[in-house]
Amino acid sequence: MNGNMMQMPLLISALIRHADRYHGDVEIVSRPAADEIHRYTWRDAHHRSRQLAKALLALGVRPSSRVGTLAWNTHRHLELYFAVSGIGAVINTVNPRLFQEQIEYIVNHAEDEIVFFDLPFAPLVEKIAPRCRGVRAWVALCDRERMPDSGLPLSCYEELVAAQTDNYTWPQFDENTAASLCYTSGTTGNPKGVLFAHRSTLLHTFGISLADSLAVSSRDVVLPVTPMFHVFSWGLPYAACMVGAKLVLPGAQLDGANLYQLFEAEAVTFTSGVPTVWLGLLQFLETQKVAPSTLKRVVIGGSACPPAMIDKFAALGIEVIHAWGMTETSPVSTTNQPKAKHLSLPADKLRQLRTKQGRPGFGVDLKIVDSEGRELPRDGVAFGDLMVRGPWVAAGYFKGDGGDVLRDGWFPTGDVATLDADGFVQITDRSKDVIKSGGEWISSIGVENIAIAHPGVAEAAVIGVAHPKWDERPLLVIVRKEGEALSRDQMLDFLRGKLAKWWLPDDVVFVDSLPHTATGKLSKLTLRQQLKDYRWPAASAAGG
Ligand code: AMP
Repeated sequence: MNGNMMQMPLLISALIRHADRYHGDVEIVSRPAADEIHRYTWRDAHHRSRQLAKALLALGVRPSSRVGTLAWNTHRHLELYFAVSGIGAVINTVNPRLFQEQIEYIVNHAEDEIVFFDLPFAPLVEKIAPRCRGVRAWVALCDRERMPDSGLPLSCYEELVAAQTDNYTWPQFDENTAASLCYTSGTTGNPKGVLFAHRSTLLHTFGISLADSLAVSSRDVVLPVTPMFHVFSWGLPYAACMVGAKLVLPGAQLDGANLYQLFEAEAVTFTSGVPTVWLGLLQFLETQKVAPSTLKRVVIGGSACPPAMIDKFAALGIEVIHAWGMTETSPVSTTNQPKAKHLSLPADKLRQLRTKQGRPGFGVDLKIVDSEGRELPRDGVAFGDLMVRGPWVAAGYFKGDGGDVLRDGWFPTGDVATLDADGFVQITDRSKDVIKSGGEWISSIGVENIAIAHPGVAEAAVIGVAHPKWDERPLLVIVRKEGEALSRDQMLDFLRGKLAKWWLPDDVVFVDSLPHTATGKLSKLTLRQQLKDYRWPAASAAGG
């Protein structure tokens, strides 16, 4: 017997309709160019999304058509989120920081019919257009005055929108319909597409808005620093829309000074980003001796947030929510929110807990397994391959790439982690970055977290280097803060006593910068290649 309840599909268009009707006067602020601040409301965004929907239909976009974007966080990109998915087509947000060949690959593999791009990417578009033959139109995200000179017949976004009225009703269709497509760049092989559904997006949006997750509410002013091309700014534009929060979209200027200025000007309460972004902001705050006056929470993920960063934000009265996820999980899977019983923990124990990547809320299920797939204990000590499942977790890749990826219905994350009885996860490494020393495993993240706490260190990475006696030993690679004269021995002294003795790196190498991937993560693959000629000092090589 079925329940007697209404059948209303969970569609992305319902989000913007809701925000218009119930939060129509709430502002969306956007910085589409360094010299331009644009302000309007959720009602205006809905109005323009419907105009854009009609413009897309006029351009021949049909249900299931793919529409690409090469764009920063702006109100126009937001309108594309709602208009493209709203008409039943699929928005493919492409990371413009990828190599040109990867961008071409993605646009062609996704079969994007139209590509919308921000002006700084006009030269890129000129280069890729001849090799992206399936793209019918390239649309510059600007008005007529700012249209770039180009050898290509470009269309102008504002003209396309202005040519339409907003007399349009969002179509209703199956909530399992594809809504968006995001490619994940594996370290080897071609990028693979994760195809999200309307249903999975709405469930993820509900999930991350919960008080025990990111706790997004109508009283928040949300500024996602996480790019809208990287798994939808971790879902924050949808969440702000669902709850009717003010949304601030910072464009391309993500340095400390520009972020601080926007935080203060717009009274931002909640922000998001990878650790590298916050290194820049914290350095700016330190040197300028200023502090954000309204910011309350920052969600940090994408790579491990060092405990020292959590402490620095805490000293400013800002709470860090450490989170873990991946493109294949929409992306948020775990968020670090203590339970009632944790609030009475001694400060050092609570701090230790808060450095973990958090626990899953309803909708995400986790387990860790050994190399034979046997489940390992949830005791916070055993570590193994982290597996995830849930209604916003990918069941496979677009066009079947990578074959059947699930293992007994679970998605193998490629991360190695511990899991405790309360569900708190601690990521120790990507499985391919784990260091195996004398049959034991060393967590590179564990060592990096301590090294970064040294005041002279700007960035730290630990990689395993082949060793004649121990298989592999950890090598610490450091970028010094400007003007600091930190030595190898000072660094090792600092680590001594804070790590198990055999976790202590055998050597320290200083570099000017560390390689990062297009999504801001340390690229240990590149670092290992850069240091392939490194040789251990004689004492270490002798097994000392
Ligand atoms: P992506 O699909 O590009 O978002 O990358 C997902 C990967 O980023 C995960 O599988 C982890 O290896 C890493 N990652 C994300 N969040 C964290 C975190 N809080 N701590 C450590 N690694 C993380």
